[in-house]
Amino acid sequence: MLKPFFCLRSVNIAIKLLYPSVIPANLAQIKLWIENIFVSKLWSIKKDNMIKSKGYAAKDSTSPLEYWEFERRELGANDVLIDILYSGICHSDIHQVHDEWGGTQYPIVPGHEIVGRISAVGSGVTKFKKGDLAGVGCMVASCGQCDNCKSDQQQFCSEKKTVWTYNSKDVMHDHSYTFGGYSNNIVADADFVLHVPESLDIKKVAPLLCAGITTYSPLKRWNISKGHKVGVLGLGGLGHMAVKIAVAMGAEVTMISHSPRKKEDAALLGAHKFLNTHEAEEIKEFSSYFDFIIDTVSAPHDYNLYLALLKTKGVYICVGIPAAPMQINGRSIMGGNKILTASSIGGIQETQDMLDFCAQHNILPETEMIDIDYVNEAYQRVLDSDVKYRFVIDMSTIEK
Ligand SMILES: [Zn+2]
Ligand SMILES: [Zn+2]
Repeated sequence: MLKPFFCLRSVNIAIKLLYPSVIPANLAQIKLWIENIFVSKLWSIKKDNMIKSKGYAAKDSTSPLEYWEFERRELGANDVLIDILYSGICHSDIHQVHDEWGGTQYPIVPGHEIVGRISAVGSGVTKFKKGDLAGVGCMVASCGQCDNCKSDQQQFCSEKKTVWTYNSKDVMHDHSYTFGGYSNNIVADADFVLHVPESLDIKKVAPLLCAGITTYSPLKRWNISKGHKVGVLGLGGLGHMAVKIAVAMGAEVTMISHSPRKKEDAALLGAHKFLNTHEAEEIKEFSSYFDFIIDTVSAPHDYNLYLALLKTKGVYICVGIPAAPMQINGRSIMGGNKILTASSIGGIQETQDMLDFCAQHNILPETEMIDIDYVNEAYQRVLDSDVKYRFVIDMSTIEK
């Protein structure tokens, strides 16, 4: 009698001959292939324990965000249910709501700076209990098996299975599209949920989950510490966090800006110096000055001007990237053996480390609290750079 292995193998080979371009090559892939096809269908039948949610969604790329009721997947063994208290507004929410990066699935419920309390835990969850303060950032799942996932770089999952918190197909669960934090609750894999230290002001903590980790990760990776001179380019959601974190790491921090009216604010955030890039004398004074520059600007700008401010072997770190290709003169980095690099959010453990670091140093973003029905006006104000420096939505205002 043929063993099941050979039966499956024969079936696979037979199907491969018929449809060679679509059928995977080994048994593990067959399993995945079957799941891909059938799991979402089975899920659609299994509706009993779906979690009801209230959120704000956009129905298409030109519509405002509006109240919308929807369902989330039922609580799995490794999942937690979080009652969302506060949700930050990130500029990338606006890009995706308006489909500026392409591929947005509507309706979209944005939000990946989420803080709340655990209201239920799956049977296999040991890391959290009901009542714990918890956070969710930019990702909610990944393959967990590849080199990147195993080395806390889940945002770069080699199997391309990073599941983003919203507008992302959840290939690790029910294959539906994820809905984010502009809502009253979220179901998430406990491995992607962070412990939020109770000592931090819960009303302000949400933006740490994206703006905080985006700036902490490269500053930590490059071992920023006492004795380093760090320039922060751009004073917005990312820039103001970079100043606070780099100061807490012990560096001498200079805010680099073309707007002298930001000098006072930069000092209030803890920056030691201010460089007005419209003043030729000041540019000269800071020539070859910095060990590191962290560039948070996503509008087009002249990289060559700022690279000249780095010392020999200085490091230029981009965390804001303009849509158009960067124009860099090779001599700007070759002269002085300079290093040009970038950074994209951070891993889950690293995000936990960032929250713990912020708790230890009492670092919090500057925020403006809003009701959910103000979200469309808030979007316009983000576009106008008219917020210091991050909006946080009080999600209790969604109750109708
Ligand atoms: Zn973000
Ligand atoms: Zn992976």
